[in-house]
Amino acid sequence: MDVLTGWPRLSEKCRALLIVQKYGGTSVGSVERIKNVARRCLETQRKGHRVVVIVSAMSGETNRLLKLAKQITEIPDERELDVIAATGEQVSVGLLALAIQAEGGKAVSLLGHQVRILTDSAFARARIQDIDARAIGAALDSGKIAVIAGFQGVDKDGNITTLGRGGSDTSGVAIAAALKADACEIYTDVDGVYTADPNVVANARKVDRISYEEMLELASLGAKVLQIRSVEFGMKFGVPIHVRSSFNDNEGTWVVPEDKTMESIMVSGVTATKDEAKITLHKIADAPGVQAKVFRPLAAAGIVVDVIVQAYIQDGRTNLTFTLSSADLARAQDILIKQCADICAPDQIKSETDLSKVSVVGVGMRSHAGVALKMFEILARENVHVHLISTSEIKISCVIDAKYAELAVRALHDGFELGKR
Ligand code: ADP
Ligand code: ASP
Ligand code: MG
Repeated sequence: MDVLTGWPRLSEKCRALLIVQKYGGTSVGSVERIKNVARRCLETQRKGHRVVVIVSAMSGETNRLLKLAKQITEIPDERELDVIAATGEQVSVGLLALAIQAEGGKAVSLLGHQVRILTDSAFARARIQDIDARAIGAALDSGKIAVIAGFQGVDKDGNITTLGRGGSDTSGVAIAAALKADACEIYTDVDGVYTADPNVVANARKVDRISYEEMLELASLGAKVLQIRSVEFGMKFGVPIHVRSSFNDNEGTWVVPEDKTMESIMVSGVTATKDEAKITLHKIADAPGVQAKVFRPLAAAGIVVDVIVQAYIQDGRTNLTFTLSSADLARAQDILIKQCADICAPDQIKSETDLSKVSVVGVGMRSHAGVALKMFEILARENVHVHLISTSEIKISCVIDAKYAELAVRALHDGFELGKR
């Protein structure tokens, strides 16, 4: 372990490490690719390391399973949905364990309930509460590679749960934390974390290192390369995360604690979310308690709201606007019309869809002036209308029309010269 940076030197052949490797859907997308993963796992084991592998469903499989359920009913029961969705990962672990055995190695597949990845009971978005390391330890002690199904867990009553889309990343990092692994390698279809989605921005640049804080912001603001909760686990338990490609041996990106050198960079990434909507309650009373009245029933329904802006109009009246996922829009409007009629007439509750939130992220913003100005100038040059703005210490986000999202990401990437360093 390099004590200065906190990341392990995997090339140190002499020391046995415990390595957790997570392979995403594309990396196990075909039998050939599963065989490739088997060879990679064995290669790591043959270097003398103990290997735990977490796998996703084969690419497209989770979508296919969720669609099947929707063909039966438009709003499926979430407990049953998790029973169905979790099968994608069950197939992958079985196939990978077989592939490792076929290469002459020893492997055993373990499902969430067999490991005992204990979660709460929030189906489709469950949170990991505890991981029992014993079954994994027993597999490793007998010289096997432990092949664990990502994305799934079990609640205290024995129900199968899933961790939300992209949840295998979280399985990987949480298992690495539970085992006190030396590193968690996230194998995916790109070479690491880039300054923007490399599938959107042609000259996006792979970064060697990124801080947990920046990665948290990028993940929550649309960069799906890591699920946000996996970064939270990494940060909380100090797990060094190495995001890299399963198709080559290139060094990827290390997600590590922030250090001084990172601050010299003003902006380290640009990202955008899709499928955002906004609701405005027009001309509500500018009085204490109205906001709680609006957001209480929404919170009770589990609806997550994001950018909130309140603007004074006149005569003691104000407009209250907030964003939310388009998927929740109809439900939110229904709730507001039914439960907030006394503070806002139904025809004064207006909504817009097809919005996107485009953000620039960087710890260097704390010590650089003019980042917001630069962002607004770049968007103005492209004639992009900004609906709402929100900021934190290390990010600036603008809500814009979704049709301009990719244009805005490219313009900001160029304007902040992120392709250059
Ligand atoms: P996996 O199936 O391996 O979990 P995902 O599709 O969930 O892979 O995540 C990888 C994808 O994330 C990439 O193909 C890329 O399009 C997207 N992505 C978005 N933003 C970024 C970024 N800043 N850096 C790298 N990849 C990104
Ligand atoms: N298979 C799940 C999904 O598609 C989990 C994952 O791939 O991380 O969301
Ligand atoms: Mg993913």
